[in-house]
Amino acid sequence: MIPGLAPVLPNFTDLVAARGQGAFLYDTGGRRYLDFTSGIGVTNTGHCHPRVVEAIREQAGRLLHAQINVVFQEPMIALIGELRRVVPEGLDTFFFANGGAEAVEASVKLARRATGRPNVIVFQGGFHGRTLGAVSLTTSKRIVRAGYQPLMAGVVPAPFPYAYRYGWAPDATLAWCLRELRHLLETQTAPEDTAAMLVEPVLGEGGYVVPPAGFLPALREICDEHGILLITDEVQTGFGRTGRFFAVEHSDTRPDILIMAKAMASGLPLSAIAARADLMARWPAGSHGTTFGGNVLSCAAAVATIGVLRDEKLIEHAASMGERLMERLQSVQHDHPAIGDLRGLGLMVGIEFRDVAGASAGELVKRVQRTCLERGLLLLTCGYREHVIRWLPPLVATGDEIDEAVEIFTDALRRVRS
Ligand code: PLP
Repeated sequence: MIPGLAPVLPNFTDLVAARGQGAFLYDTGGRRYLDFTSGIGVTNTGHCHPRVVEAIREQAGRLLHAQINVVFQEPMIALIGELRRVVPEGLDTFFFANGGAEAVEASVKLARRATGRPNVIVFQGGFHGRTLGAVSLTTSKRIVRAGYQPLMAGVVPAPFPYAYRYGWAPDATLAWCLRELRHLLETQTAPEDTAAMLVEPVLGEGGYVVPPAGFLPALREICDEHGILLITDEVQTGFGRTGRFFAVEHSDTRPDILIMAKAMASGLPLSAIAARADLMARWPAGSHGTTFGGNVLSCAAAVATIGVLRDEKLIEHAASMGERLMERLQSVQHDHPAIGDLRGLGLMVGIEFRDVAGASAGELVKRVQRTCLERGLLLLTCGYREHVIRWLPPLVATGDEIDEAVEIFTDALRRVRS
């Protein structure tokens, strides 16, 4: 803990980072760490990608701030052009903000104004941020909400098809979740009161849970039936993390609003929501705004980020590295009964632990995480009991780096068990 820093921010290391390069972070003592946290899904292009750094340097010498209500700026215009090439077809209009929670709130404000309806359906285990509005939409973990009531009204949680937690087959879980969702629309939030459904295509903080393939298309269908907007939160899944530019591409689902942040500018703060122009046109001018949103440096970094992802074929690389990581971890799973479930999409992989031999899954995970840290590997945890180890290496990670990380992890599992 650093003196003077609010203890509300827990930290699983005492490292002071001095510099970063690619998949590695270096502390002030010069020790190297394989950073498979990617700063919680931010450094998809690796730390300090030279092309991103150069774009920031170049822009910093020209203009640092261009307030959006006062003037337009070239990097934002270029970024809109780049984003239109990568978002699902038709989502051609953007609102820029600074971080994920802000963009989530913007999406809900847009949905409420555009539909004139108050309620939002969210999905159990979803994480959408920590500002008071965003945390009201979040159901991933008790500590995130405890002590902050009363939260924003009009939020109705529906079950997410987390088959392993329910202990059912994926298809049966999906069918039950969809029945419950329809039941909610009959009993708790009438369609004419429901502005939107807000969903993560893969649960992030809630445990790295990949829903069955039919989930998002089914939500799309139910939304269409009732004139409800479908909002997908791609803050963690976006920018190549799952082996596609956005995770909705895996199921060919087109949301009405797509939220992006985190990896968008490779480390500078930037977020956005994308929607069709006719939907954005129903958001009255002046009814929402921001001082810093779409900052000129961040936009320049985002243009470079998209260029790097495309030119270095990092999304294809993420898909193949994801397969490699999954294969390696599958062979580890056989020897370790504490591993209950292994799941993932691209380079977004979760290992859910279970309680064994008197140790809780959460304790085991903490010990494994600490042992990996001692060996120079940074791994994050997630899940409602912090009982899932999550793998989110940068998309630039090489096969050798993936193998090295799995080796350290396997060794940590052995040590923790013995
Ligand atoms: N949505 C998702 C899916 C996230 O994973 C996060 C952060 O982890 C957020 C929203 C909130 O983003 P931020 O921390 O930038 O406010």
